Amino acid sequence: MQIVIAIAVGLGLTQLANLATTVYLHRDLAHKAVQLHRGLRSTFKVFLWAATGISARQWAAVHRKHHAYTDAPEDPHSPARLGWRRVLLTNAVLYRRSARDPRTTERYAKDIPVTAPDRWLLNRGIIGLALGIAVLVWWLGWVPGLVAVAVHTVGYIGLGGSVNGVAHTFGRRPFENSATNVTWLAWLTCGEGYHNNHHAAPTSARFARRWYQFDLGWWFISAASRLQLAQIRHADVDSLAARATASVQAGPPS
Ligand SMILES: [Zn+2]
Ligand SMILES: [Zn+2]
Repeated sequence: MQIVIAIAVGLGLTQLANLATTVYLHRDLAHKAVQLHRGLRSTFKVFLWAATGISARQWAAVHRKHHAYTDAPEDPHSPARLGWRRVLLTNAVLYRRSARDPRTTERYAKDIPVTAPDRWLLNRGIIGLALGIAVLVWWLGWVPGLVAVAVHTVGYIGLGGSVNGVAHTFGRRPFENSATNVTWLAWLTCGEGYHNNHHAAPTSARFARRWYQFDLGWWFISAASRLQLAQIRHADVDSLAARATASVQAGPPS
């Protein structure tokens, strides 16, 4: 029974980490599609530090680089260049390689300040992970605690690799870009699987385009907005994508 609880805790942690990743790291910090309340931002940031060891600034920088160079040699994780299996299975390694290069944050995270808590604590992922593991072991006991850690690690890394590998290879492409919409993946990643929509309109806080597309990240943002905990900048994939296409067709201003 304890092991069943441990597996459930691991899966629950992965879902919470996916929600924090898509709402805070991706839609707020990296793309500024939404501006979350300071308290919500800090909560997500500290949770991600303990649950994944991720530095928010590094994540945003690596992700912005992916958008700037999608499928070009500079793309940190392009399945078109590396193969989808390699991106799926080694996404965490590819991410770390790019995140550790100081040029990535220098160039792509200029606007994101490094605060004192970042410098002393939150940019030290190993401390966050040690704390997260200690909490699980204290709560569940040694074996169930480590089972929860293992389930969460495989779940979070596997789903992240799936977004970057599978959702640039298989699935529907309603817009002209290399990313794809993969419904099952969107269900498991709080909406991240609507990756083709997202590449067409990166500044939309909503990744879904239809009422039946399940975008849990957007549901969270719209609820937070009603509670005055988030300010939504844009939330319409189609109009933003149409605007982007029109500006490409018009060419640079003369
Ligand atoms: Zn992508
Ligand atoms: Zn993005």
